[in-house]
Parts: sequence; C-alpha cells; structure tokens
Amino acid sequence: MFDNLSDKLDKALHVLKGHGQITEINVAETTKEVRRALLDADVNFKIAKEFTNRVKEKALGQNVLTTLQPGQLMVKIVKDELTQLMGGESEGINLSGNPSVILMSGLQGSGKTTFSGKLANFLKTKKSKKPLLVACDVYRPAAIDQLHVVGDQIGVPVYSDRDNTDPVAIAKAGIAKAKADGNNVVIIDTAGRLAVDDKMMAEISEIHKAIEPQETLFVVDSMTGQDAVNTAKAFNDILNFDGVILTKLDGDTRGGAAISIKSVVDKPIKFIGTGEKMEAIDVFHPSRMADRILG
Ligand code: GDP
Repeated sequence: MFDNLSDKLDKALHVLKGHGQITEINVAETTKEVRRALLDADVNFKIAKEFTNRVKEKALGQNVLTTLQPGQLMVKIVKDELTQLMGGESEGINLSGNPSVILMSGLQGSGKTTFSGKLANFLKTKKSKKPLLVACDVYRPAAIDQLHVVGDQIGVPVYSDRDNTDPVAIAKAGIAKAKADGNNVVIIDTAGRLAVDDKMMAEISEIHKAIEPQETLFVVDSMTGQDAVNTAKAFNDILNFDGVILTKLDGDTRGGAAISIKSVVDKPIKFIGTGEKMEAIDVFHPSRMADRILG
C-alpha cells in the first residue's frame, strides 16, 4: 500500500521536528517529495522545479515546522499553489454569437469527434441550445461516419458533404445551414493527423481565419504526457486558441499535463473527457485536478 503525498509529507516533517534545529535544508528535503509527486503525474521537469521552489519559499514564510501538523499545512500550500497554477476558477465558453461557432482542433485520436458530440449534448441538455455538428475531415470518410453516429446518438443534426474536398467551404456551408435551420451553436470537427505537420496546421489556420469562430478549442489526450505540451504549443502558436479540452482522464494518468499545458500556453482548461460515452464530460475544476495530482 502506497502512502499518498499528504502522509509522506507529514511523516517526513514530523521526523524533522524531533531533531530540534530545523533548517531550510530540511524543508528542501520534503519539497523533494512534492517534486517527485509532480514528476510522477507527468508534470514537466522545469515547471515542477519552479513550482517546488515557490512552495518552499511559502512554507518557510509560514513557519510550517512550528505548526502541529506540518504535513497538512504543506499539502494545503501545495494544493493552493497547484490550483492557482491551473487557472483558479473554471471558465465557461463564449456563446455570444448567433450562431456561436466553436472550432475543434487537435491531433487525430485525441478525442475531437467524441468531444464534439459530448459538447453538443452538454449544450443541448444543460444549456438548452440547438447545436449543429459539422464534419470537416475531408480525408477520412470514417470520420464523417463517426460524427453522424455520434449525432444520431444524442439527437443532434450533422452537416457533411462527402463530395466536397474543401474544408473551408464545408465549414462555411455548415454555418449557413445552421442559420437557415435555426441552430444557435455550430461545432466544427476538423481533420487531425497523428503528429503536428505543416499541412494540417495550414488547413486549420485557414478554416480559423475564414470562419472567425467565437471559440477555438484545442483537444488533447491527457495520456500523452509531455507530447501533449509540445502539441498544445504548436497549435496555440498558429491558432491562439481560447481553451483546452483534456480527454481520457478516466485512464490511469494523474493529469499532470494539465499543469504543464496551462503553464506553457497560458490558456484555460475548460472541460475534461472522462470516458467514451456522450455523458462523460465535466467542466474543469482546478482544485479537483490538484487533488488528483496529489493522490
Ligand atoms: P479524433 O480522431 O480526435 O476525432 O478522436 P476520437 O473522438 O475518434 O477518439 C479516439 C478514441 O478515443 C476513440 O476510441 C474514443 O472512443 C476514445 N475517447 C475519446 N475521448 C475519450 C475519453 O475521454 N476517455 C476514453 N477512455 N476514451 C476516449
């Protein structure tokens, strides 16, 4: 049975308390545990280091070692800092357009199509919106089929045009269709590739410029660890996106990618995906993610 971080810190600090003279070096020893927990959760090394330095300063400033339960105070400091780092309170999405256009971006397999359906379902059932899904992947017919399956499941219409090879034209036609049919949200699912490449970036950038979405979301598989951070940076450089969607958090990942991505691109994480079903979507809560990372 493994101790969680809270137990580990309490033990380490209690031992130190018995030794009379407590020094900065002792606190440094225990913050190493924090750093290890962050690295285990897949937080980028540099970010973990900067983070633990901040925690150390705060811990010394608050005289952690003179309190009765130093471990618990340490964990509180760490948790507060982590929550802060992941963006404080959760942020919603911009639905001010008529229709509001939401552009989904991300690599193939990240969970874009699944999340497009989840978001449509969420907006329909929780926000009383009338969404339209638009299939803009012109390379994989299976991706179009998949979006139709998802749309049928949740009772949301899907616009696609299998004869058209121009994703910009399909996106525009989808928005026109939404206007004509009275749909007040348009969710545009785009083609991803297995890795970042120039062609994919040029295409998503062109769609982005042409349709000027209210909200551009970047979808990323939380299991991909450090790669997730590099991908986020590449997409953000091109799209200056509005928010991040972390998928597959139902897996055994500790979710450290959330911290690294937020630190690198400084954009809010808006939703998380927690399963394959259409209901497996949650608004992102930094404090809950901090609990998960701390274990
Ligand atoms: P896309 O290529 O980006 O459109 O990715 P898909 O939506 O097709 O998702 C790729 C795979 O990941 C599919 O098998 C999905 O069922 C699965 N998937 C998507 N989101 C989640 C999630 O939150 N949790 C789990 N466990 N699987 C997911």
